[in-house]
Amino acid sequence: MAADCIFCKIINKEADAEIVYEDKEIIAFKDIYPAAPVHLLVVPRKHIPTLADLDNDDAMLMGRMHLVINDLARAFKLDKNGYRVVINCGKDAGQVVYHLHLHLLGGKPMLQTIAEGRGV
Ligand code: 5GP
Ligand code: ZN
Repeated sequence: MAADCIFCKIINKEADAEIVYEDKEIIAFKDIYPAAPVHLLVVPRKHIPTLADLDNDDAMLMGRMHLVINDLARAFKLDKNGYRVVINCGKDAGQVVYHLHLHLLGGKPMLQTIAEGRGV
């Protein structure tokens, strides 16, 4: 728990969120400013600030977070058309909340692919 971390507050039920999944290691809730019809955040209960702060002990946790993503994609009916999974790491990536999270985005075609973004 980090004192001023909004995601830790959501995990500890000190702040509200629309929670769609939780287990002993992982919680998932709807993004407050959705960028797609389905926009969920999959978050470890453990306060890990960024992807770069992972250590070897977190390998299983990161794997499980992706399995939770796939379960949620099926539950929110994204599995047929596909979905995007995003992790922003640090300033240049635009990370705003410094508690590791995976974005699950879907329900519409994404505006830009990475290939389009670099003009190839
Ligand atoms: P980042 O840019 O750090 O990868 O994304 C942080 C995400 O968290 C943003 O999409 C933002 O809308 C979402 N977010 C920030 N504060 C809150 C909050 O208090 N509740 C919820 N549900 N989402 C939040
Ligand atoms: Zn936190």
